[in-house]
Amino acid sequence: MREKNGTKIFSKTELKEAADLLQKGKLVAFPTETVYGLGANALDGEAVQSIFAAKGRPADNPLIVHIARQEEIKELTTGNLSPQAQKLIKRFWPGPLTLVLKKSEEVPEITTGGLDTVAVRMPKHSLALKLIELAEVPLAAPSANLSGRPSPTLAEHVIADLAGEIAAVVDGGQTGIGVESTVVDLSTEVPTLLRPGGITYEMLEEVLGTVEIDPAVKAKVNQESKEAISPGMKYRHYAPQAEVILVEGEAEAITDKIQELAAQESNVGIMASREYQDFYQQGIVKVMGSRDDLTEISNNIFKLLREFDKLGVDKILIEGLPEHGLGLAIMNRLRKSAGYQIIDT
Ligand code: AMP
Ligand code: MG
Repeated sequence: MREKNGTKIFSKTELKEAADLLQKGKLVAFPTETVYGLGANALDGEAVQSIFAAKGRPADNPLIVHIARQEEIKELTTGNLSPQAQKLIKRFWPGPLTLVLKKSEEVPEITTGGLDTVAVRMPKHSLALKLIELAEVPLAAPSANLSGRPSPTLAEHVIADLAGEIAAVVDGGQTGIGVESTVVDLSTEVPTLLRPGGITYEMLEEVLGTVEIDPAVKAKVNQESKEAISPGMKYRHYAPQAEVILVEGEAEAITDKIQELAAQESNVGIMASREYQDFYQQGIVKVMGSRDDLTEISNNIFKLLREFDKLGVDKILIEGLPEHGLGLAIMNRLRKSAGYQIIDT
């Protein structure tokens, strides 16, 4: 075991030690197939309170509760599972899909940000599942970053943000999807997509028939002034220190625009697709991945934002992508990273 500022860094063979800390009400970050989560006993109000404190997270931004077995959903929710919930669970659990359901009395209000619903997910990552089982409690686990910063896809990102603030992190290497889970609200009559992620809109539609998309999902302006269904949508998210500009439109127009903007700057980073990386004559170019492999891109966006911060660039220019499949989740995160500074070519 290593240590940084009092935060233990466990390897994947030290899960028992990590689970012991969780049982004592401590905070332990762990890898999932989406991003690293910052875990605490979801049923222990005080432990959950310390998640909000460590992250600097607004108290009305609810947490996702992670379980290792389907039966655990009974303790967290009221009433019977709807046919829609059953279908989604059968098809997509374990996996990057979070369901919002009516909460039971067992779940403290602090875990749900004061809402009468609870968000539940069964992750697919073997270390996450094992840790939850060893801890013997459901784990509330938001992304293990400081509130407002890019989500962590490596243990070193967690350490950079939270060393000294949390008991431990389990180092499981790089996470597998790189953006947070899809969130679907099933507490309303028509299922509503609140946050796009690894389970795509198209996949949900295939199982459910009809899915509404919350307007905030595709928003190109800040929703802060509006009343959002999901309080998590109100806050600036995923922001590096540098100013971020997202350029959207047809690929050729995007690259021309970025080239033009980069020529006006002296200390600029560009997040490019592999297909266009050689096009740019100015700036530090980093490759997000191929336009034909959106999973590669989703895995890299948060990591690259943090790398550009380390390099100390003043501005980051990002190529926009089509919004189909995983592209919807990627563009949703990039628009927020840019604080909605978007150029539509
Ligand atoms: P994070 O833990 O950082 O991935 O954020 C969790 C997100 O899940 C929140 O920001 C909300 O958008 C969403 N969420 C969690 N619980 C609820 C809930 N009860 N109702 C609606 N959205 C929720
Ligand atoms: Mg988060």
